[in-house]
Parts: sequence; structure tokens; C-alpha cells
Amino acid sequence: MGLVVQKYGGSSVADAEGIKRVAKRIVEAKKNGHQVVVVVSAMGDTTDELIDLAEQVSPMPAGREFDMLLTAGERISMALLAMAIKNLGHEAQSFTGSQAGVITDSVHNKARIIDVTPGRIRESLDKGNIAIVAGFQGVSQDKKDITTLGRGGSDTTAVALAAALDAEVCEIYTDVDGVFTADPRVVKKARKIDWIAFEDMLELAASGSKVLLHRCVEYARRYNIPIHVRSSFSGLQGTWVSSEPIGDRKVEQAIISGVAHDTSEAKVTVVGVPDKPGEAAAIFRTISNAEINIDMIVQNVSAASTGLTDISFTLPKAEGRKAIDALERNKEGIGFDSLRYDDQIGKISLVGAGMKTNPGVTADFFTALSDAGVNIELISTSEIRISVVTRADDVNEAVRAVHTAFGLDSDSDEAVVYGGTGR
Ligand code: ASP
Ligand code: MG
Repeated sequence: MGLVVQKYGGSSVADAEGIKRVAKRIVEAKKNGHQVVVVVSAMGDTTDELIDLAEQVSPMPAGREFDMLLTAGERISMALLAMAIKNLGHEAQSFTGSQAGVITDSVHNKARIIDVTPGRIRESLDKGNIAIVAGFQGVSQDKKDITTLGRGGSDTTAVALAAALDAEVCEIYTDVDGVFTADPRVVKKARKIDWIAFEDMLELAASGSKVLLHRCVEYARRYNIPIHVRSSFSGLQGTWVSSEPIGDRKVEQAIISGVAHDTSEAKVTVVGVPDKPGEAAAIFRTISNAEINIDMIVQNVSAASTGLTDISFTLPKAEGRKAIDALERNKEGIGFDSLRYDDQIGKISLVGAGMKTNPGVTADFFTALSDAGVNIELISTSEIRISVVTRADDVNEAVRAVHTAFGLDSDSDEAVVYGGTGR
């Protein structure tokens, strides 16, 4: 029996009862002969509450102090979890990200892991302990300051530790039974996926599926760490995410893996752009200089009479203000008429490796949307994904329609959401 890394999300450790329940599960794994490393998130909505608190004290808290504050959430849960395990008669030690050797760059609030040196974790395991590690945090290599990895970053901590410790598997425990063919909060008939390849999971994560973070899946693929996403509330097998199906699970790659949606983006339209070389470059240089990542882009055909065109792109709502300000500042240089900002949009994406070889998929997708009366504003595709932007109000309906049209609806149990506010 090898080493397993288990990660428990905030909703799994939302209160004392939750912590005790999780402690039992961890002890089970230990009794089964595994060496167990646990990564834990902050209890329930603690991180959101700490953020609210910071905003009441200062509208723009300094990154360093913000990270100091947020990492306190995981410190609380890790210590309580270690206590609960000891209470069950097993040895456990908790470690901060820094103590666990999670070394990051120095970009506060969204640091990247650059190295993991888990010497103290190994030592603790060798003594027979269960090691508990605070998720979502590390220490910067140059300044030795405490950093955080960005919201939801505990998954990345877990995969990074699994890679550094050469774990057999990284188990991600959450409040649903695995990865579903759509968000079970929206599609009651969503079906649990038994196995999904890294590539498809990456596309789903990039398209707004919240069950696993893109960065975490990317990390797992790079180091080839199988992820098992499952519920801490049920004993069921969850979803395996790996390069190949594992063990005796003889599952085939599905044609369509699932439907993802995302309502966290906004659309910026640059109106009245001269239709000549260099314009798109000027716009997107401005955006990238402001360190904003964009998603989809469309340029309309220019009206022959005016020689002017419109360029629209989507970006995270949180970056909207920054983008508008940056473009306004360069209005002269770029030479456009005006800007339009629309945050009432949503994105629906269909993901599946089978798209490469099934030419009908695209047509069926658009037919499903049109049958549901959903108007399409932007389209983008990759080899294994097709995404559209629609009105935000249409998103849930559109997701359900596409899910049904591709035969993804389950005919048995409704998908269960065990906890969490989805906040
Ligand atoms: N507690 C952090 C958050 O809520 C990190 C995590 O849960 O993964 O974003
Ligand atoms: Mg959380």
C-alpha cells in the first residue's frame, strides 16, 4: 500500500461535525495500510468571510497582509483536524504550506508553485503520523513571505504534494459525487463520469466547470498524477481523471464528456475601429500590458461605407474596470469611437474528444440551442470544444437543452449536492 494524498474542501469541514466525519475517513485510509497526507481547505465560507472583513477595514488591502489573513483560515481547519484524528487514537501533525515546503513565486493572491520540498512531511510520515497540510498557501522563494495560490488553490496544493511525494493517487473530496456531465446544481439529470482524460477535464475546467481548477489539472497532467474526485459525504466511487483508464475500469472515451457553463465573464466591444493592419495588435497589446487575460474574440465585417469595424472580446468580470480604463487611456493611439461593456452574458461549452471525428456535433449543438430559443452572440472552438456566448438569463436553459440533445441525461438517480453554498 502506497502513499495517498487526500484533499478536503471547505464544505466537507464546514463545522465540528464535518471535521470529525472527515477525521474518521482519514483514519480508515490509514488503517487500510496507506501513508496518508491530507490537504485541507478553510472551514465553510471562512475565506469569503475573511475577504469581507478585509474589505471593511481597507478598500485595497496590501497583498502581503491579505495573504497573511487568508491563510489563517486553513490554519484553523488543519489544527482542528489533527486534534480530531488524535482523539480517534491516531497520530497526526499539522503543517502550514511553508512548513510543508510549498515554495512559490512572490505574486501575492495568485502565486504559482515553483518547487515543493516536503522534507518535514516525509519525516512525519516515517514516524507513522498522518500529515495534515494547510491548502492554498506557500512561501515565496525570494522574500520568504506567506503567499496564497488564488481561490480554490487547495486542489493545486494537493496535486503538487502528490507529485513531490510520488503518491499513488490524489483524492479530491468534495460535496458532489465526482465530475458530472454538467453542473448538478443546474442539471438535475447530470450524470457522474467514471473516467475522464486530462485533456477533456482541462477543457471543462477552462470552460467554467468548478469541480476542479484548471491549474490543478494542468499540474496533474504534467506529473501524471491520477486524480480521484469523490464525495466526503458518501462512500461511492467518484470520477477518475488520468491519462488512461486505471486498473480494471474498462471505460471508453466518451464522444461528449460534458457541458460546462460560466457566468463570470463580461464582454467588451470596441466600436468604430479603423479596418487596417495593426488595430487588433494595438487593442490587445493594451489589454495584455494591463495583465488581463481574455477569452473569446470576434471582429465584425467592416461596413464598406465607413471602413470601420467592431471588435468584441470576453474577459473575467473582475477585470472589466481595468480593461475599460486601459483602453480609454489609449483611445487616441488605438483610434476607436467608443466602448461598450456588457456583464449580462454567459458562456456554454460542449466538450468531448469525439468532436474531432464526428462532424455532426457542431450542427446538433446549434440546433439544440435554436430549439431552446437561445440566441448566440459569439462562437469559439478548439479541437475538442465548442463554446458560445449568450444572454446570462438563457444559460441554465441552454445547458439543459444541450445536455438533453446529446443524450447525456441520466435516467436514474438525480445528481446529489451534499453541501456547500456554491459561494
Ligand atoms: N479556502 C480557499 C478558498 O476558499 C482555498 C480553497 O478552498 O481551495 O478559495
Ligand atoms: Mg473554499
